[in-house]
Amino acid sequence: MSHDSNNIMVILSSPSGAGKTTITKKIQQKYQSFKISVSHTTRKPRPNEVDGVDYHFISNEKFKKFISEGKFYEYAKIFDNYYGTSKESVDEMIKKNDIIFDIDWQGTQQLSKFKNLKLIKIYLIPPNKDELKQRLTKRNQDSPQEVERRFKAYDEDIQHWKDYDYIVINKNLENCYKQIENIISINKKKSPTFSQTIL
Ligand code: 5GP
Repeated sequence: MSHDSNNIMVILSSPSGAGKTTITKKIQQKYQSFKISVSHTTRKPRPNEVDGVDYHFISNEKFKKFISEGKFYEYAKIFDNYYGTSKESVDEMIKKNDIIFDIDWQGTQQLSKFKNLKLIKIYLIPPNKDELKQRLTKRNQDSPQEVERRFKAYDEDIQHWKDYDYIVINKNLENCYKQIENIISINKKKSPTFSQTIL
């Protein structure tokens, strides 16, 4: 991937249920320059999800074919489903736009290997585990078993916070969003030499 423009790539990762999707969508609504990278997944769509908007929903066979054809910058198996970022769409988007990625720590590690990318890596954590469980249950999008599974993955996921440039605690959605806005505007202005910052 050649990435010579001043456009930036913001990665937002978090344990499931920390508020990432809401924040990602808010950023895109406010900043015209930002586009969300729409991943491919083998997960079944949730009732409110739209194909091509939330994800490109594809079969296992197609996903495996794409892997063998080298179509992904990164991909990972998460909760029994595959998720991946298409090379072609990212290469096209970065010419004109900043990109925000809602991907997990495995995808972040893989993208980080591309040293020429202007990546800003943000890890979002919920204030505590109880709140996380409430959010996972309240959003009412997954079965109780799936909620339990995602909750259990928290301990493993959170160990990867050290791979990120910024750690933001989502105590309050509005504050959290403002902190992420600050991170973006600072990094849009300067050429990135990052050190890890805990906000
Ligand atoms: P969900 O099933 O809740 O939409 O997503 C589950 C997890 O997959 C989330 O942590 C999300 O960030 C991650 N994810 C979504 N798309 C991708 C992708 O393209 N690559 C990777 N590595 N993770 C992804």
